[in-house]
Amino acid sequence: MQIQCTWAYRELRFRPTLFPTFSKHLQTSIGCVPTRGGRGTYSFVATMSSVSTQNEVVSTQNTRRPLQIAKRLEKFKTTIFTQMSNLAVKHGAINLGQGFPNFDGPEFVKEAAIQAIRDGKNQYARGYGIPDFNSAIAERFKKDTGLVVDPEKEITVTSGCTEAIAATMLGLINPGDEVILFAPFYDSYEATLSMAGAKIKGITLRPPDFAVPIEELKSTISKNTRAILINTPHNPTGKMFTREELNTIASLCIENDVLVFTDEVYEKLAFEMDHISFASLPGMYERTVTLNSLGKTFSLTGWKIGWAIAPPHLTWGVRQAHAFLTFATSTPMQWAAATALRAPESYYVELKRDYMAKKAILVDGLKAVGFKVFPSSGTYFVVVDHTPFGLPDDIAFCEYLIKEVGVVAIPTSVFYLNPEDGKNLVRFTFCKDEETLRAAVERMKQKLLRN
Ligand code: GLN
Repeated sequence: MQIQCTWAYRELRFRPTLFPTFSKHLQTSIGCVPTRGGRGTYSFVATMSSVSTQNEVVSTQNTRRPLQIAKRLEKFKTTIFTQMSNLAVKHGAINLGQGFPNFDGPEFVKEAAIQAIRDGKNQYARGYGIPDFNSAIAERFKKDTGLVVDPEKEITVTSGCTEAIAATMLGLINPGDEVILFAPFYDSYEATLSMAGAKIKGITLRPPDFAVPIEELKSTISKNTRAILINTPHNPTGKMFTREELNTIASLCIENDVLVFTDEVYEKLAFEMDHISFASLPGMYERTVTLNSLGKTFSLTGWKIGWAIAPPHLTWGVRQAHAFLTFATSTPMQWAAATALRAPESYYVELKRDYMAKKAILVDGLKAVGFKVFPSSGTYFVVVDHTPFGLPDDIAFCEYLIKEVGVVAIPTSVFYLNPEDGKNLVRFTFCKDEETLRAAVERMKQKLLRN
């Protein structure tokens, strides 16, 4: 595809009248939209990652080749976040789909990154993190959980939590190991478990409260279970695991000698109850890998700074996988991330206050439009039942919402092992400025509101 673009690009510089033909060709063949810049320059709006990878063939120069992929990834599609953000651009819709803020992170963190780059902190970082950042993570973890961890032996810095998830799966799971997953789940869990060759055992959390079905969990967990994955506050539902649920999971894990991988990236967006870090439960630290990141808390999702905290015997596997996945994470961003984690408590208080106002705008708006809105205790997501509007499933609803209403949401069926389980539910995010949220609600009121 790149070869094709380069060729055409050269041609265009010399024969600009070809632009309309070229533009049409690119759009129909690979979905890129070229734009004409000043004096002989052309750029392509779509990037490689935003070009659908689900067509059966791709064109490269004049040949058409079948797509190739290893078996462990063949069932997965272009991520729903990429698909929906592309559609948002294509249809000029307001994007309440992919969870990224449409506002910037704090100045003091951005300044720290600029300073680090100017100070020449630009070569490879130590594989498991620059010492200052590992220390900042340990300090923050102690403040939040009371647990004292060794920054040198128990913390691994990764390129976003998504890499920490992958390193954990690949570093600690053997092919054939059983791993329990609560559906709906963040898409990378299933894909990385598949890469690790795990045997996935799904347990579905159901509306309205998405409570853990304890009896089902008891009958699923066994001596064959290697690990259980939890995510609290939970994407996409906003559920926060209760102390009772966590205690039950903890005792079942001890009884069956099971590890816990806990994704807590939304911990600072806990609105309706206090966040409980799984590792802080009695006896749990020794069997827990805590996964976290900077992106949500500091509105810097593009920085891709994450980390895994685990006792030394589990950190070894995570670090070894990380060493051969990415080796090390961006050095100047780690310096800035250390500054971020040392933010005064007032930063976190303000963040929460701000998000609560945004949440109120979206939730009240969705209710006024006529959705059945399920309670969300944390994260910047809220899940609704779309069936009052009469569309057959979540995908059809989201298509309608984009094309006819001009708003993007995420269909949740992709977050289930059995897509049927999610067909009535869609997820909206409120990590957007208030004006954008109000505009989205307004569009829905005008075009969706049932008379
Ligand atoms: N975590 C983000 C969300 O749930 C998306 C991350 C991604 O695009 N992979 O919206």
